[in-house]
Amino acid sequence: PPAQEFALYVEGLTVSFNGFTAVNDLNLYVDKGELRVVIGPNGAGKTTVLDLICGRTKATSGSIRFKDVELTRMAEHQIVRAGVGRKFQTPSIYETLTVRENLEVSFPRGRGVFGAMAFRLTPDVVERVEQVAEEIFLKDMLDRSAELLSHGQKQWLEIGMLLMQEPELMMLDEPVAGMSVSEREKTADLLNRISKNRSMIVIEHDMEFVKNIAHKVTVLHQGKVLAEGSMDKVQNDPRVIEVYLGH
Ligand code: ADP
Repeated sequence: PPAQEFALYVEGLTVSFNGFTAVNDLNLYVDKGELRVVIGPNGAGKTTVLDLICGRTKATSGSIRFKDVELTRMAEHQIVRAGVGRKFQTPSIYETLTVRENLEVSFPRGRGVFGAMAFRLTPDVVERVEQVAEEIFLKDMLDRSAELLSHGQKQWLEIGMLLMQEPELMMLDEPVAGMSVSEREKTADLLNRISKNRSMIVIEHDMEFVKNIAHKVTVLHQGKVLAEGSMDKVQNDPRVIEVYLGH
């Protein structure tokens, strides 16, 4: 398919570690406004794919383009500036800061020549912080110390910190791990809202949750795409049941 139809265009992506091929000739196309969920057994290469896209790991071969920008050999900070945001499994919030301060320090800066120096709490930053806090269900907790948040609220705060950067591609690794049922429902609602004007890739094991959020599912197995399509299609695929869902 032609590149311009997709926001994210990954072709022939391969990475080997000491002779072990963790991601093997992977093709992946994710549209703007699409929420893609990546599933598969442990060791399938899911996290490594996100590491490759955000520049933490460098590909052995293949290419990664986002909105016609070649990311493949860019440094991690350049990839962030190209509009790619990624949340890891463990929250990396500042525990001793308040919710508000965590969001404020996540506002992008340093884009211009005097960017870092020019950062101030201008009315637009304050407004953005409040908008994001509302989106992540923490509007009433803006002045609470982050260490007092529940595990689920910390996960939301980290999503909020990413949202402050308004990434056009957002990648989340197991966003509902350790969350309660009601927190999972709220997170599905959150992801459905924020995927509307960006591309998203989510790694997830909770199939109930996957059903609630996925536009399309990619099943990875041994570094390759085993199946791809609607949740309905992949969950009835005998190969997917054999290597993953049947366990
Ligand atoms: P998943 O997220 O699907 O569980 P991973 O992407 O974490 O799978 O890992 C895929 C395989 O690649 C695993 O066998 C893992 O041990 C290996 N791997 C990942 N990163 C590295 C690395 N930096 N060095 C060596 N092996 C790695």
